[in-house]
Amino acid sequence: MAVGDSSRSWTTVPDPQMSAWGDVFDASEEGETLSAPCPVCGATTLHRWFDLHRVDPRTVAGRPWQGRGSQWQWCGSCRSYLHSSGLVPMWWRTDIEIDPSVLTHQPGPIDDVVSRME
Ligand SMILES: [Zn+2]
Repeated sequence: MAVGDSSRSWTTVPDPQMSAWGDVFDASEEGETLSAPCPVCGATTLHRWFDLHRVDPRTVAGRPWQGRGSQWQWCGSCRSYLHSSGLVPMWWRTDIEIDPSVLTHQPGPIDDVVSRME
């Protein structure tokens, strides 16, 4: 499997690794690129990106949030991913701008941008 081959398909995180996957992302406030290895394939190519829909700061469960949005979590190596809607954490900052019209359920358009920055 060639790195950067955008034709390879994305798959949701396998059930046996779902719990570990969630733990890794819950523990990180690193931004678009995580330092922890992927729970599925072991590569250090985990990424995430939040799309803040509307600024509406609030505190929920004792943690500060910027407002509602969407999140993508993915591994650029094995192409496991999760996409969800929810609250965007206050620590999140990004320099990446992505045309909302190209966003899909799968993280491909975001990975294209993130992987070009590496
Ligand atoms: Zn992986």
